Amino acid sequence: MKYCALCVQPDTRPGIVIGEDGVCNACIQHRNRPQIDWETRRLEFEAMLQKFRGRGVEGFDCLIPVSGGKDSIYQVFKMKYEYGMNPLCVTYRTPLRTELGQKNLNALINMNVMHLDVSFPLDVERRLLVKTMEEEGSAGIPCHMGLLSVALKTAIRYKIQLVVWGENAAQEYGGTVSDAKNPYMDRNWCLKYGCLQNREPMSYQCETISERDLIPYDLPSDQELKDSRIAAIFLGHFFPWDPVENYRLAQKMGFSKRSSGSVLGLYDFADLDCHLIPIHHFTKWYKFGIGRTFDNASVEIRNGRMSREEAINKIRNHRDIAWKENVDALCEFIGWDFSKFQACMRSFANPALWRPTAEGLVMDGFITGEKIVDTSLYE
Ligand SMILES: [Zn+2]
Repeated sequence: MKYCALCVQPDTRPGIVIGEDGVCNACIQHRNRPQIDWETRRLEFEAMLQKFRGRGVEGFDCLIPVSGGKDSIYQVFKMKYEYGMNPLCVTYRTPLRTELGQKNLNALINMNVMHLDVSFPLDVERRLLVKTMEEEGSAGIPCHMGLLSVALKTAIRYKIQLVVWGENAAQEYGGTVSDAKNPYMDRNWCLKYGCLQNREPMSYQCETISERDLIPYDLPSDQELKDSRIAAIFLGHFFPWDPVENYRLAQKMGFSKRSSGSVLGLYDFADLDCHLIPIHHFTKWYKFGIGRTFDNASVEIRNGRMSREEAINKIRNHRDIAWKENVDALCEFIGWDFSKFQACMRSFANPALWRPTAEGLVMDGFITGEKIVDTSLYE
């Protein structure tokens, strides 16, 4: 495992490529930010909006996929209040939405927008979650498929041609240069950067999950998007993206952070809408040898708010454990017990990072220089 010399991301993280100078592609993209002519991009954005104003049915100018998190509140604020666009907001309702997630979604609804909350059949969600846990070691795949497909299909159904996403993951967290520079999102982007692990939704068809069960999760084809003249854009392409700034704005609109501190990672204002998302991030521990703190600290370093040394100290003191509250919610939903969850997670431990020992799985070469034993990661 090789770590970036500037941030704390290792080359095991998908999308991260560390160059000869020891610096990762996400840091290089961030370092090039001042060279981006943001004023030109803003003007391009404003010119583009003119093409979409008043074009959707029922008077909608754009569609905004929202979770109720800080970023979605920022997206709505930008489009509705700054640019006077009339958005239709749509949420994929995760089966394990938290109380705080609902409260924050209500704050977004209070911004006076039309909002759709789309639930999928719970029994299918359950079977699909079991399948993706068992086959991909991921608790985040069904909800990512759901949120991507609901957004794009609702835009097609309502004939809304502008879909406004938040950041481009390829630009912010590592991806190819051409993907990072692309303002548009398409089916291929979803498979590559949308946490789907490059696997087609329909490929989950099996004895327990029918083709019909999966249709709502499937993504529209690029041809369908083209025929419907959908432009799905990243707001982060046109305006510099900073989760901390988004949080500051969201707070003014009634968004609440987690009062008991961060669930995982460094941010107490992120990853709090759904019990499954913290587990989705937790899986990275086994697969890539990182926790959410690595992601957050890397963003903080790139934005000049944290030194690399401080970040390593945070990693040392802030293990990205799996929280009982989240694990219990998942287990209750899919009918597993804790030991089954733990065995499933451990079965996805990357053998290049972890070695089995009598005391448990051990990782060598960790960024803090310490020997890491997996047993302490549950609370
Ligand atoms: Zn880096």
